[in-house]
Amino acid sequence: MPTIEFEALDYRADQTFAPARYRYDGDEQTGWRIDRDGVLLLELGKGFRLLRVASCGVCSTDLARHFLPFPLPQVIGHEVVARSDNGTRYVVEINASHAARGVADECAFCRAGLPTHCPSRVTLGIHDLPGGFGAYILAPVAACVEVPASVPDSAAVLVEPFAAALHGVQTVAPKAGERIAVLGPRRLGMLVVAALAGVRARMVEAGRDFAIAALVRDPALLPLARTFGATEALQVGGDARLPDASFDVVIDTTGSPDGFDLAVQLARREVHLKSTHGRPAAGLRHLTELVVDELAIGRFPFSEPKPGEGPWDRLRTGSRPRVAWLASTMPPAWLTARAEVRRGAAAELAAQYDSAEDGLPRADVAVVDSAAKIDLAIRPRDGREEALIRPRGEILVLPSAVTYGSSLLSAVVARDLRLSSSRCGDFRPALDLLASNGELARIGERLVTHRFAANDLACAFATARSRGCIKAVVEHGTAIRAGGERT
Ligand SMILES: [Zn+2]
Ligand SMILES: [Zn+2]
Repeated sequence: MPTIEFEALDYRADQTFAPARYRYDGDEQTGWRIDRDGVLLLELGKGFRLLRVASCGVCSTDLARHFLPFPLPQVIGHEVVARSDNGTRYVVEINASHAARGVADECAFCRAGLPTHCPSRVTLGIHDLPGGFGAYILAPVAACVEVPASVPDSAAVLVEPFAAALHGVQTVAPKAGERIAVLGPRRLGMLVVAALAGVRARMVEAGRDFAIAALVRDPALLPLARTFGATEALQVGGDARLPDASFDVVIDTTGSPDGFDLAVQLARREVHLKSTHGRPAAGLRHLTELVVDELAIGRFPFSEPKPGEGPWDRLRTGSRPRVAWLASTMPPAWLTARAEVRRGAAAELAAQYDSAEDGLPRADVAVVDSAAKIDLAIRPRDGREEALIRPRGEILVLPSAVTYGSSLLSAVVARDLRLSSSRCGDFRPALDLLASNGELARIGERLVTHRFAANDLACAFATARSRGCIKAVVEHGTAIRAGGERT
């Protein structure tokens, strides 16, 4: 049985770092035991592989880690490039789900192709599983993706956030002739601009094109946004005002309620929310949870859609699409003929779906007539982090809804604006795009402004929070504290 012992820096609830001795005991087939300072920390089932970390990016989630509802202290860091014994380079998808461990059959969410929403997952460097700011990680076997030779280390360390950015771009699916804006391009937002540029390059080859607008507050970022592939870079905030509905899609990466309001104002077709700030915005309490569950909000159709074109058709997980009707009016007859519609209070309906016999234990769609009911569709039961609807499900707002107090609801009802959201993304399409586009493979040279040794985390975090830093990366290797590691 391999055993490895090393010293790593724990991140603590008071936002400081402190060294601890870690010991991993076990193997891929039988599972692992993780001890911290001689005390059992975590037992992992089978399906985890020991890798040595080469480098790990610092992201906004790390800087806000003390706000997240997962236990501390922990070795954090989830944007990992690692090597196996034979030197193969891997990037590691962060969700240790049943699917990632190679046992997808054990779970309805993993079976349904939603492993990033697996309810029993732990998450590398975020939730329980020690992360890449330590020298060794235990990575789920199916989550280790080999890095193609044409992708340099400097880009590989950005694959996790780049995959998340690309997933957002694929969710909004830019159409020919559209104007797609990225609001607040910085750490994550520049990667969204880069992902848009990669997708645009492929569309241009096929004779179609769209515009990429970077909307920044800090004028110093205007030229940088252009180097990442923005076709226009515009300043917002202060005296700089853009006309309402200037863009077909606005991808909001600001992580602020003001930013979200601006995105709603500037978008014609869709706002895509890419960040979580935990604060109420646009009259809604649970926008962060909406992003966690990758839900969307749209307008309920005025009349019966053609077969196969209802928002519920593509979401079906059971034998018939499940619609949770939270509105006070009655559902139309055409809907009850096509879907399994249940009326009632959100908490009651959630309890009923818990015992669903096929598909996911959730509704596919919720229909609401107020902002308060949107919040109920997202978190129907106090103290339970479960939505009424399935991950990537839809909340549809009746045209007759009360929109007072919510700029978002007004826009959804009056202008048919759609809100979508996304969190993690698949690594393989992200690596494909980086490997196929030499310009894009240089994103690391442009985005990573600071590098630190692994024993210098406090400094890395202080720098990552400063205005002069866009992306900081922590590197393992020769600089690891002397005597801090033995096998
Ligand atoms: Zn991250
Ligand atoms: Zn699962």
